[in-house]
Amino acid sequence: MKQLGLYCSRCSAKLPFRYQDMKCSCGGTLLVDYDLERLSKTFTKEALQTRYPSMWRYNELLPVSNPDCIITLGEGWTPLVRLQNWELKLPIKQLWIKREEQNPTGSFKSRGFSVAVSLLKEAGATKAAVPSNGNAAGALAAYASHAGIKASVFIPLDCPPLIVEECPLYGADTFLVDGLIHDAAAIIEAGKQEQGWVNVGTLKEPGRVEGKKTMGLELAEQLGWTFPDVIIYPTGGGSGIIGMWKAYHELKALGFVDGPMPRFVCVQEEGCQPIVDGMLPQAAMDLAGGASRPSPTGMRVPQPPDLPLILSIVKQSGGTALALSKSQIADATRTLGTQGISSSPEGSATWAGLIELCDNGWLRATDSVVLFNTSHAMKYAQLESICSVPRIRSYADYKALGY
Ligand SMILES: *Cc1c(COP(=O)(O)O)cnc(C)c1O
Repeated sequence: MKQLGLYCSRCSAKLPFRYQDMKCSCGGTLLVDYDLERLSKTFTKEALQTRYPSMWRYNELLPVSNPDCIITLGEGWTPLVRLQNWELKLPIKQLWIKREEQNPTGSFKSRGFSVAVSLLKEAGATKAAVPSNGNAAGALAAYASHAGIKASVFIPLDCPPLIVEECPLYGADTFLVDGLIHDAAAIIEAGKQEQGWVNVGTLKEPGRVEGKKTMGLELAEQLGWTFPDVIIYPTGGGSGIIGMWKAYHELKALGFVDGPMPRFVCVQEEGCQPIVDGMLPQAAMDLAGGASRPSPTGMRVPQPPDLPLILSIVKQSGGTALALSKSQIADATRTLGTQGISSSPEGSATWAGLIELCDNGWLRATDSVVLFNTSHAMKYAQLESICSVPRIRSYADYKALGY
């Protein structure tokens, strides 16, 4: 067994490792604790150089003890692409995009569920359930079926049809819920005793944050063991931000990176913006909250399970939070598309956020910025048509279009 423990991100209490129930008695979230001092003696940057390009190259910083229980479909070590054309146009120094849509289930949710399902296997669980706006459901479905674990997934009924259909394809019991993600979560909580489900919802178990942590580990390694000045990340439940913040602290404790923490920017869609509202002073908050109906994306989480933790990370890092409109997000999808990058509304929101932070002067000329493209456009294609495509039968029809 690895020498693992848990620590409370709010009151710092230390507890023995466990597979479920990540709430401390103080209300804070429990996170996995590694003996970093001991690890720093044997785990080196050099050792990593000869390892396979997978997020499991960071095995020492992942909580799965039994290597036979690792459930992998090829997740992680996604490309970090530099957008040099835009560096010349925008008032920043460097611009990168981390292509998380290239994960096995088409979104970065693969990372979290690779670790979470490995832990389920290690703990001998046979049934798991998740409430999800789609991508977490698809990832649980894929990894659980690969592991021989039965998955049940509960998805708000307006979520993108292609994402929903992926779940039964992977063999999951799939249900559309007439409500939002917290209504789906309530169904799992009500039934988990009777059905024998492990709830693998956000911050309910230790694996998903640890899996998403590898985004931060990879980013640092791909940038030559440095962190960018700014990370722009589409935030819903917050496990990605929490994971990357944890990655930063662990790499610092191991002596792998130096320098200040990246400024974390959370982007959300207008109308469902608890992080943006939480960053405002109380008086302003009462006036906040857009009237528009937010799209069913991974950012639509009205009640993140540990909002105070997300807010403290954003504030500590000197970051900020932004709500973008549907039309800003749609424009961003087209702009990224014309650079050869297929981005989901969440990934596009990072671009929209970048442009707004350039326009309002928040970004500095010396900043290096990394955007997280968390999923690709195709999964959302049936939700709203992104580009209109004419129908023709003949060359005359083509000419009639004015070409
Ligand atoms: C889940 C999801 C998000 C939100 O991520 P969190 O780490 O839960 O805040 C963003 N983008 C996509 C595509 C998602 O599926």
